Amino acid sequence: PSPASGRVDLDGAPVAPLTICMIGAGGFIGSHLCEKLMAETSHTVLAVDVYCDKIRHLVDPAPPHLAGRISFHRLNIKNDSRLEGLIKMADLTINLAAICTPADYNTRPLDTIYSNFIDALPVVKYCSENSKRLIHFSTCEVYGKTIGSFLPKDHPLRKEPEFFVLTEDESPCIFGPIVKQRWSYACAKQLIERLIFAEGAENDLEFTIVRPFNWIGPRMDFIPGVDGPSEGVPRVLACFSNNLLRREPLKLVDGGEVQRTFLYIKDAIEAVVLMIENPARANGHIFNVGNPNNEVTVRELAEMMTEVYANVSGEPPLEEPVIDVSAQQFYGEGYDDSDKRIPSMTLINKQLGWNPKTPLKDLLETTLTYQHKTYKEAVKTQMSQASAS
Ligand code: NAD
Ligand code: UDP
Repeated sequence: PSPASGRVDLDGAPVAPLTICMIGAGGFIGSHLCEKLMAETSHTVLAVDVYCDKIRHLVDPAPPHLAGRISFHRLNIKNDSRLEGLIKMADLTINLAAICTPADYNTRPLDTIYSNFIDALPVVKYCSENSKRLIHFSTCEVYGKTIGSFLPKDHPLRKEPEFFVLTEDESPCIFGPIVKQRWSYACAKQLIERLIFAEGAENDLEFTIVRPFNWIGPRMDFIPGVDGPSEGVPRVLACFSNNLLRREPLKLVDGGEVQRTFLYIKDAIEAVVLMIENPARANGHIFNVGNPNNEVTVRELAEMMTEVYANVSGEPPLEEPVIDVSAQQFYGEGYDDSDKRIPSMTLINKQLGWNPKTPLKDLLETTLTYQHKTYKEAVKTQMSQASAS
C-alpha cells in the first residue's frame, strides 16, 4: 500500500495519489515541495527545471524507496515540445518557473517580462486545452504599494488596516511609472493572473493562484561566488547571509525602512499541500500565503540576523554591522520598492484552515545554522583564493 493511502482531505474523504507536473521544481520552493511530497504523501512528481542541484538528493539518482515516484526532466519551458506531453501525463500542474529576484527586474526587464508572462502562457494553454488543474505561483508584489503610502507621513489613517492590509479580492494593484522598471515583474505576474482567471471564467480552467509573501529558509537563492555568480544579487536573506559569512557590513538599501513579513518555507509548504489535496476548496481562488505576525523593517531584519548569526557561529558581530547604500548604487536605475506587505489571512484560513506558525527568530535560527554549516568553509576558501590572485 502507498504511504499516502491513509491521507484524507479537509472534508474527511481519502486523497487519491496524483501525478504532479512541477515546473521550476529545482528552485527554492520546488525543492521543499518535492521533499515534502516524497516524505509524506504517495503523489508522483514529474520535476521540470533547467537545474537540479537543489533536488539532486531526490533525483540523481532517486533513492530506492522513491523509485518511480519522482523523475527529473531537464528542459527549458521556453522552447521544448516535451512540455505538453508532461502536462498531459499529469493530473495537476504546478508552475513555479520564473525570474524572481528584484535585482533582475530593472536590469533585465525583457527577460523578466518574458519569463513571468510569455513563457507561462503555454503552460496555461496546455492546462486549459487538456482540462488539467493548474496551481500557478504569482507574488505578493502584484499589490505593489499600499494605499496608505500615498498619505502624508504622519497621517493617522496610515495606521488603519484598510489602508495597508492586502486582501486578495479587494485590494488594488498599485505600481509606479513605466520608467521604474522594478514593476516589470509585478505587472507581468498581474497579467498572467488575469489570463488564468479569464481561462477559468470563459473556459472552465480549474486553477489556484498563490501569492507568496517573502517565504524564506534553507536553499533560498545562492551565495555569490560560491554557488552563484560573484556579481549576482540574490534576495535579501541570501544577501545578508553572504555579508555575515564574509564578516562584512549588511547593506541597507535606502535606509532599510520598508517593511516585510517573512514566512518560514516549511509553514508555506503546508499551505501548498493543502491546496494540492483540497481542490474543491482551493479551485477558483487566489491565496495570500504569508505570516502577518512576522513583520519587521529591513533594518530590524539586519539587526536580528546579525544577533542570531553571532549566536550560531560563535563569531562576535562587527562593530559597525550595517551600512547604508542608495537604491541607485545597489540596484541601478529604475529600482523602486513596496513599502509594506501585510497579508490578509481571512481567505486561506476560511478555505483551508491554514495559519502560519514559526516566529521570525526561530526561523532565522534554523536558517542561519544551515547557512553557516553549508557555506562557511566554502566562503573562507573562496576569499583566500580571491586574495591570493
Ligand atoms: P527560484 O528561482 O528558486 O525557483 C524558480 C525555478 O524555476 C528555478 O529553479 C529555475 O531554474 C526554474 N526556471 C525558471 N525559468 C525556467 C524555464 N524557462 N524552464 C524551466 N525552468 C525554469 O524561486 P522560488 O523562490 O522558488 O520561487 C518560485 C515561484 O514563486 C516564482 O514564480 C516566484 O515568482 C514565486 N514567488 C516566490 C516568493 C518567495 O518568497 N520565495 C515570493 C513571491 C513569489
Ligand atoms: N535589501 C537590502 N539589502 C540587501 C538586499 C535587499 O536592504 O542586501 C532590501 C530591498 O531593497 C527590499 C528588501 O530588502 O527593500 C527585500 O528585498 P528582496 O530582494 O528580498 O525582495 P522583495 O521583498 O523586495 O521582493
